[in-house]
Amino acid sequence: MSFDFGKKLDFESEFFDLYKLSKSAYGVIAKENSGMGGNAGFIDIEDYLIIVDTTGDVDAAKDLKKAAAQYTQKEPNFIVITHYHMDHLMGTSLFDVSTQIMTSDRTLNNIQTDGRKRLEEFKNMDLKEMEESLKIETDEEKKSKIENDLKFLKTVRSDTFSLREPNVTFKEGCVVYGRGTSVQLRTFNNAHTNGDVIVYLPEEKVLFAGDLLFTRRDPWLGSGNPEGWIIVNEKLMTIDFKVCVPGHGQLSSKEEFSLENKYIKELLELVKNKIGVGEDPTQIKRSDFSKELQSWKSPVLEMNINFLAEYLKKS
Ligand SMILES: [Zn+2]
Repeated sequence: MSFDFGKKLDFESEFFDLYKLSKSAYGVIAKENSGMGGNAGFIDIEDYLIIVDTTGDVDAAKDLKKAAAQYTQKEPNFIVITHYHMDHLMGTSLFDVSTQIMTSDRTLNNIQTDGRKRLEEFKNMDLKEMEESLKIETDEEKKSKIENDLKFLKTVRSDTFSLREPNVTFKEGCVVYGRGTSVQLRTFNNAHTNGDVIVYLPEEKVLFAGDLLFTRRDPWLGSGNPEGWIIVNEKLMTIDFKVCVPGHGQLSSKEEFSLENKYIKELLELVKNKIGVGEDPTQIKRSDFSKELQSWKSPVLEMNINFLAEYLKKS
């Protein structure tokens, strides 16, 4: 999909493509299999430079920092973290206390509980099994996934790595005013996580959705509430935006939110029906979905099915 207001810039990075989305906003879109993790962005509102998410790879975050400096000639004043998953968070370690890190109060709480716990688990993980499987893996895509996972784990375990946690939080939302434009931060409960943050530029009609939007790929449902997510997406589709930077995938429009909702609704229904007739829901195949969802590729489908089977038992 191409946008007449989203110009691709010629910044060189092995991790991402850089787009100028509007007068103030830039989209940082991860290259497939680059190991960068979530997309990111930056917004130059003249008085301030705001970075949106910091990726899951410290080297990708170095490129992000470099791109922001090159195109704005500013040091970042704020980082906004959209949610607690490490594939959006690792790069905070690169920024010192002169950069304020903002998020919702629930996301900070998630980082301080689940996030810290996961980091400890990563530090104690045995890497031998992964190193062995890397030696015998022949599929290029799977191989680069293992390589990226190993790189991530080695970063977490290195003595020099220290994750910086957000130091400014809000309950519902807040606005950062610049001379150029204003930037709205809003948070939602019960969707991809319980504290997802969106970043919206009303004057320029640009939306950064974090992982509320996985564009044309299986959204990870297991950290949140699938039914709540459908409702949040319906609200997001009423926002006046021309271009959206999703958490994963290419630049998007409202159509991608509606496709994501279609996926969540269909998968809920498919799992419900399998359980209803006493069959194993893991038998669900891509071909059981509507045509426009059948081409999606991601190992997350099976995890989503297992999560929904448990979720439906509880509800
Ligand atoms: Zn996420």
